[in-house]
Amino acid sequence: MELIFILTYNCNYRCRYCDIDKRAEDMNDVVIRQSLDFLSNQDIAFTKTKFFGGEPTMKFHGICTLIDGFPQNQNSKFYVTTNGSLLDTKKITQMKDRDMIVTLSLDGDQKTTDENRVVVGSGESKYIKILENIRWEESFFRVNQVITPKNVAAMVENFEYLYSLWFRSFNFLPEYYVEWSKDALKSLVYGFQKIQKMRAHKPIFLVNSENYSPTSFFNFGIVIDTDGSLYGTNLILAGRFEKYKSELKIGSVFDTDFSLLSEEEQTQYLQKIQICLEKEYSHNVLKSVYYVNQILSNFTIQYDQ
Ligand code: SF4
Repeated sequence: MELIFILTYNCNYRCRYCDIDKRAEDMNDVVIRQSLDFLSNQDIAFTKTKFFGGEPTMKFHGICTLIDGFPQNQNSKFYVTTNGSLLDTKKITQMKDRDMIVTLSLDGDQKTTDENRVVVGSGESKYIKILENIRWEESFFRVNQVITPKNVAAMVENFEYLYSLWFRSFNFLPEYYVEWSKDALKSLVYGFQKIQKMRAHKPIFLVNSENYSPTSFFNFGIVIDTDGSLYGTNLILAGRFEKYKSELKIGSVFDTDFSLLSEEEQTQYLQKIQICLEKEYSHNVLKSVYYVNQILSNFTIQYDQ
């Protein structure tokens, strides 16, 4: 089962496609300690533990404390996705020492990345600084290539550019929950076909093959929020879904009698998520989600063969 810690709702970026309501709300040390106590009392095998935000490296010490105190018998792998702007040699060493699997969000070249990834304050691009920070360490990082209806026409060029920087582990992330025109969807298919064809001379590890969720884009598992509340989905991270938190809450790390949802309850929970999605998004957006998901799944299955 997947475990997700929401360490903070804060971020030093304001990406145009980000749905998180950024604010200074962090997981404090009491919740971190209680989460570790809670986990050591659970008979659940967490094979993957992910640290989410906002920008999770804003709570870097929290990530290290959670990994160092994580129940030994769990054998979990630890994943962080970061905008990379706060990384330095010391942090990278600490990540490597803890065998963390780190994904850097860079959508392509500087122009493409900066189009969506807006830095708070001066607005000055961090792109070059990030590349300088990870210099000589590129092979340690995976890359998250976000493909939007706007940049889809350049997705292959962006892939080639990131490849030329030495990245070899790619997570392709088409923008979900927005409307895609027919032409944009065609470009997405065409782009994936080209990347598939380049496989012989530009082989990659496709991170997408590691991920499966019954709800498109959103993860399904145990999510520990900043205040220790437990949810079955990270949907609640998005500002527009925060109003459903009370309906989607399944417990708290402060509960002494927590038990996992039964199979029947999980089915009902998934239905609840579907209802929330239908309330919040138009028919056209949900239709786009369906197509985008199909296209990405087909590419992933073919690439794995
Ligand atoms: S870096 Fe991540 S959390 Fe921060 S604004 Fe961008 S997408 Fe959202």
